[in-house]
Amino acid sequence: MGLLSLGTPLPWKEVQKYADHVREHGIEQFLHIWKNTKDERGNSLLWGDEVEYMVVSFDDESKSAFLSLRQAEILTALEENEKKQRKVENDLGMGSGQRIPTFHPEYGRYMLEATPGQPYTASLEDLVNVERDMNRRREIAKEHMLPHEFPVTLTSYPRLGAPGQFTDPYYPPTGNASRSFFLPDELINPHARFPTLTANIRERRGSKVAMNVPIFKDKNTPSPFIDPTIPYDRDIYPEDANAREGTAKPDHIYMDSMGFGMGCCCLQITFQATDIDEARRLYDQLAPLGPIFLALTAASPAWRGYLSDQDCRWNVIAGSVDDRTEEERGQKPLKNQRFVIPKSRYDSIDYYISQSMDCRPEYNDIDLVIDDKIKKRLTDAGVDEKLANHYAHLFIRDPIVVFSELVDQDDTTSSDHFENIQSTNWQTMRFKPPPPGTNIGWRVEFRSMEIQITDFENAAFAIFIVLLTRAILSFKLNFYIPISKVDRNMQVAHRLDAVINEKFYFRKDIFAPLHHSHDAHSTGSETASEDASVSLYSSDANASTDSIVNTRVKPVDEEYDLFTIDEIINGRKSKRMSNGSGSDVEDEMDEFPGLVKLVQDYLDSMSVDVETRCTLNEYMDLISKRASGKLYTTARWIREFIRGHPKYQFDSVVGSEVNYDLVKTVEQLTLGNEWNEAGEKLLGGMSGTRYRSS
Ligand code: ADP
Ligand code: MG
Ligand code: MG
Ligand code: MG
Ligand code: MG
Ligand code: MG
Repeated sequence: MGLLSLGTPLPWKEVQKYADHVREHGIEQFLHIWKNTKDERGNSLLWGDEVEYMVVSFDDESKSAFLSLRQAEILTALEENEKKQRKVENDLGMGSGQRIPTFHPEYGRYMLEATPGQPYTASLEDLVNVERDMNRRREIAKEHMLPHEFPVTLTSYPRLGAPGQFTDPYYPPTGNASRSFFLPDELINPHARFPTLTANIRERRGSKVAMNVPIFKDKNTPSPFIDPTIPYDRDIYPEDANAREGTAKPDHIYMDSMGFGMGCCCLQITFQATDIDEARRLYDQLAPLGPIFLALTAASPAWRGYLSDQDCRWNVIAGSVDDRTEEERGQKPLKNQRFVIPKSRYDSIDYYISQSMDCRPEYNDIDLVIDDKIKKRLTDAGVDEKLANHYAHLFIRDPIVVFSELVDQDDTTSSDHFENIQSTNWQTMRFKPPPPGTNIGWRVEFRSMEIQITDFENAAFAIFIVLLTRAILSFKLNFYIPISKVDRNMQVAHRLDAVINEKFYFRKDIFAPLHHSHDAHSTGSETASEDASVSLYSSDANASTDSIVNTRVKPVDEEYDLFTIDEIINGRKSKRMSNGSGSDVEDEMDEFPGLVKLVQDYLDSMSVDVETRCTLNEYMDLISKRASGKLYTTARWIREFIRGHPKYQFDSVVGSEVNYDLVKTVEQLTLGNEWNEAGEKLLGGMSGTRYRSS
């Protein structure tokens, strides 16, 4: 739910005074929600995606592509259109898949977000409608733009913050909210929340945010690389001296403003679970997939006019809203602050929350910083230890934006203070309680994926994750690995072509119903009640239930191994030698089925008509080929496009004309015109114009 409450945002000095107030009332609000909905069962699967766009403005004469700052005008026109359309829908009683999509503002004044007009159901019909729905969203968005504007889905804009003009209209890079060397404040959504968020993060931190992304060293890139585009001598704001004093690192692309991160686009998926327990389980099971799908969807190789030596956005966004003080970052002894906090408020999750017996205590192996007072308030009210820890951890953060009109709330009906903290913990997964006064259930959001260029790809990834949740639930899959290993995977996912070059920790036996194999942790009754739930898989070759009961408790570090993403997605075969016929024969056996196979098995267990299955198979084919390296990730495709451009000097610089041709090509791919060679390595001829009428 958006947080675009209207009102007067307080400056940071004032916000500080209300930090405890917001936290305390936020927790009271949560407790009201929890008490009202913790026992609700039987909500149906509903789900929806969020697609974020950048509006580009082409100037074909000068061969330039700028970011159009007309968000407000475009959104107003879209809202008018939606109002009209909703009236027609209500008169006709239209179902999901037909309802007009919803558009939302985003941080960047060149950005839009679109969601389906209402959540999708679990039906396969809705599933195969996702791509069409995404097409329609883009078409409607485009219809409300100027002829030279187009909504592209790029994760990072290659020339955001580069020298010269990159927005339409042009603004010089100044402004008191961000005090950036590179980004004008006019690039920020002018709604009071966003400039305030930007300024208050900077003020709380005590300095500008600072991201240093390693530069990609090409043939002609100077070494060491000292960035000539940083205005080291500027002297407008007190922070200007920082860059000279070492905040900007050599051999790196230095970025100093929230817009570099929050100005990126991503693909998020939200699922409603049947109840709170299932939501907690899905939250945990999807968490280890976060870094895997970050690497698979990697789409951001260029920053501030340079090619970088990484492929993903995550650490840039993490840095871009890192409001921790020096004390909290551990650079000074604690004096004014309460905690040393290892991560930015935008980062990977720190803690598994399921009460399932599969969740061994050893998996929560990183020190969790929690607010003891909040934990006590929660446990006193009857919240179990795990969920209490979860919120006591999220609530170590301060609110960043407080509106004076909204300080006093009715905690029985409002979730505003709760959402204030909850929704500024931007993590790989989000556990979403029901909004008060609605019939919405407990939901889980998968947040790590980068946005892809075409609707075909975005539909493929969205649908794959949805089907995977279905497989997780029906086969009772277990993806747990220690959370420190998920963190390590997150780092590795950023590396150049991580998808084909790196290995990731992943669980080896994802079928083992662990509640049998660690009786030490379980009570008799829990073990017995779970016995009834034998998955489709536990009856096959893997192991019978009986033999699992007798298995010794495996140490946690024997449960996982390093896998390539190809193995995780497409399966791992192990070779074994047998000499049955006298001579040694190499024999292959399936050691790990791969996520595609799990989804296929899930589909086999349903009755799916041939046409639907074909569509779904195309999506799975895309993911399978991205994982194996047969097709490029978006990041690799962009990188090769840039490096293959005749104007590229092999000096890591993404010039204006290179950027223009890239974005033009992206527009063409988006429109389904990928049959020229440009898209071959990205899409393999799979996407097309099949849903387009003209
Ligand atoms: P946020 O920005 O807070 O993540 P949005 O409202 O932008 O939330 O997007 C939430 C997504 O969840 C949308 O795709 C929407 O269709 C979907 N959605 C809405 N209601 C439900 C529900 N009850 N269960 C699951 N998904 C839902
Ligand atoms: Mg929103
Ligand atoms: Mg959001
Ligand atoms: Mg949203
Ligand atoms: Mg968004
Ligand atoms: Mg979201």
